[in-house]
Amino acid sequence: MSWQDERIDMNVYSQGEVDRWVYSTCNICSVGCGCHVAVKDNQIVGIKGNRNHPINRGRLGPKGENQWYANNSPDRLLTPLIRNHAGQLEPASWEEAMALIVTKAKASIAKQGSNSIAIYSTGQAYLEDYYTIAKIGRAGLHTHLLDANTRLCTATTEFCLLQSFGADGTPASFDDVDVTDTLMLFGHNVAETGTVLHERIMQRKEREGHPYIIVVDPRLTLTARNADLHLQLRPGTNVALLNGLTHILIRDGYVDQSFVDQYTIGYDQMAAAVQDWTPERSSEVTGIPVDQLEEAGRVIGQTTSMVTTTLQGTFQSADATTACVAINNMHLLRGLIGKPGCGPLHMAGQPSSSANRTAGGVGTYPAQRNPMNPQHIEEMATLWNVEPDTLPTGPEKGIEEQIDMIEEGKVTFFWNIGTNPMVSLPNRRRARKALEKIFVVVQDPFLTETAKVADVILPVALWGEKEGTMENADRTINILRKAVEPPQGVKSDLQILLDFADRMELKDKDGQPLISYSTPEECFEEWKKVSSGRPCDMTGMTYDKLEQSNGLRWPTNDQHPEGTPRLYSDYKFPTHADYAQSYTKDQFSGRPLSHDEFVKKEANGRAILHPTRYLAPTEQPNQDYPMWLTTGRLVWHWHTRTKTARAPHLQMAAPNGYVEIHEDDAAAMSIVQGEVVRIRSPRGWIEVPARIGKAVQKGLVFVPFHYGSWEGNQAANELTADFTDPLSKQPTFKQAACRIEKLRKEHIVIGEESAEYIAEQYNMTVEHLLQANRLNTPYDIQMGQSLEVLISVLNTPVPPYIPQRGRA
Ligand code: SF4
Repeated sequence: MSWQDERIDMNVYSQGEVDRWVYSTCNICSVGCGCHVAVKDNQIVGIKGNRNHPINRGRLGPKGENQWYANNSPDRLLTPLIRNHAGQLEPASWEEAMALIVTKAKASIAKQGSNSIAIYSTGQAYLEDYYTIAKIGRAGLHTHLLDANTRLCTATTEFCLLQSFGADGTPASFDDVDVTDTLMLFGHNVAETGTVLHERIMQRKEREGHPYIIVVDPRLTLTARNADLHLQLRPGTNVALLNGLTHILIRDGYVDQSFVDQYTIGYDQMAAAVQDWTPERSSEVTGIPVDQLEEAGRVIGQTTSMVTTTLQGTFQSADATTACVAINNMHLLRGLIGKPGCGPLHMAGQPSSSANRTAGGVGTYPAQRNPMNPQHIEEMATLWNVEPDTLPTGPEKGIEEQIDMIEEGKVTFFWNIGTNPMVSLPNRRRARKALEKIFVVVQDPFLTETAKVADVILPVALWGEKEGTMENADRTINILRKAVEPPQGVKSDLQILLDFADRMELKDKDGQPLISYSTPEECFEEWKKVSSGRPCDMTGMTYDKLEQSNGLRWPTNDQHPEGTPRLYSDYKFPTHADYAQSYTKDQFSGRPLSHDEFVKKEANGRAILHPTRYLAPTEQPNQDYPMWLTTGRLVWHWHTRTKTARAPHLQMAAPNGYVEIHEDDAAAMSIVQGEVVRIRSPRGWIEVPARIGKAVQKGLVFVPFHYGSWEGNQAANELTADFTDPLSKQPTFKQAACRIEKLRKEHIVIGEESAEYIAEQYNMTVEHLLQANRLNTPYDIQMGQSLEVLISVLNTPVPPYIPQRGRA
């Protein structure tokens, strides 16, 4: 039986038959599974996988199956809130809230100029929202400060693709995963972050014995357990590994010289950069044995097809963009791109972060236009009917630069849409201090941790309560139909944005309203014109066609009416200066190149091989903080748990944060299973129970980043550093220095106190008492002896995810 027709996953809680099933797409991760939403009595009561959708063929993962509980959560916000003079949030009407926002926006512009307004959006809204943010932000407010939490999630995908190929758009698709001989999952724990894709991979592996799977990860993750070859490198050494592998490809004559000569530039510089990266040197830096490096090099060198996926282990690491560029280099060197089963497949994290990049809600201009190219700005001005010189230009400003600008007093108005930066940003105390100084609007269905810094909160519709489109990780545009009306008092993101544009009286150059559409579909029709002729051309799509086709990959136009499964099958890359999305950046410093510098490269339709230099992470373990800290995700939760903590099944599965410690490190410190310990970094501390095992390597600890309540003291981002990658400006969440501190009390043994008696007093087991004090037997305890007792023990057995099979 093939994966395509195995099962339909369903999770419905309803008495009797549901009234209707409404076509939709999962709104959790970037895999983009098709689904139908169950509605009864105008309420969402469940979900089932879409059997006909080519991404998932009826399957859903645990997060997807449980996402609808949040819609019915009793703590939904149902009215706007405004912070009063006493500092309390109090209910307000939409009229009052929007009037205040408009007054503050106008005042900010009048006093500090257009770039005093920053809009920080999300990867979980819809393409229509992002396009509208781009239009309001750039053509209406004239601010260049548009960013999103995609900066934390997928910015490196964009910038590595700009560097190597000239435009965004990941070359391979999930179809290629189905036919490839070799799959390299680089910093991509797909078993936990994209469960349906993982099942799709593993089922083919069970059935056909293919693909050969290489996993690169410092942790022994669920994904790594299924690998043919697990390259368990030291934290922060991705580029050292890739340079070593590239060295082997060149050394052993695996380079497709004819492909390189015809379709790439930059070979000599690239090759010189890896010349000294012998397997021995690479091994010394990465800690991977030489024979494993040689084996990986041989497999990559001899395979006839290969897909490489990347995710946060690459994107959120030191040298993020350089590592992804090195992966692009390897595919180009071997000519493994543009063919079935071939190509880099740089993932995205969130369900529509790719749509935000494509629509221009972050960084670059809509439809992969280059903000440094006057011709592209002219085109946008014509499309929007505004004067070109009113559109802001120049390199993008990431969220960390925006925080700097707030601290410097340059940004005074911050509009936060559909994201929870007070949990997700690195070094979050610093970010909180900055946001507390200025006017902050938070647009969210719930009172998140970010509400603590909000001046106005706008309650918004969730998935299932609005219509629109999303773009997944492999360029598939999916449609989501509205299943139910939002709760009374709640509006969609698009409604709020259109209302704002209206109240701000944003006009085009003829004095007409800047935005003339009023529905998501009308917005999409305008967007299609903006995309025309660009790499992401969507002129061949309509809402109805997207539903009938179960998604289409861009470009979809007259030449490709059924979409495009993989890019660059003609080996023509968008690197002509007049067409490219970027003039690229200096690979070492991140400095944006000028038009003339880019033209001098003479890429002109060829891909660009870049030299890749290894730089060790900025912060390293030291005397005060001797351990590596890394952070990441669990299969049961999504990001800051705004939705998943409201799904009982998911919350019960993983209710607490924890720290994973290698058993040798735990033994050396006599830390016992479940003991609550303090993890301290130069920025802050948390207190979490220890999970002891072999999943992390010695000297490394892992903390899931989902648990961010201000009261809980479990937020990983109390610890993380706010260093960013010079090219993508993505923060380095995966490497920081920390130390483990034990939280113990002293107990002096009195009289004939037994081990059982002492342990019981402190809620411990005798075994814990002995371990904590390095004692072998209860008889080692003597009168007058000073014992260490634990302050708190909390076992956190996070259940592994086992796909439920065989359901109808
Ligand atoms: S794999 Fe991702 S898109 Fe698919 S059901 Fe799970 S969370 Fe949703």
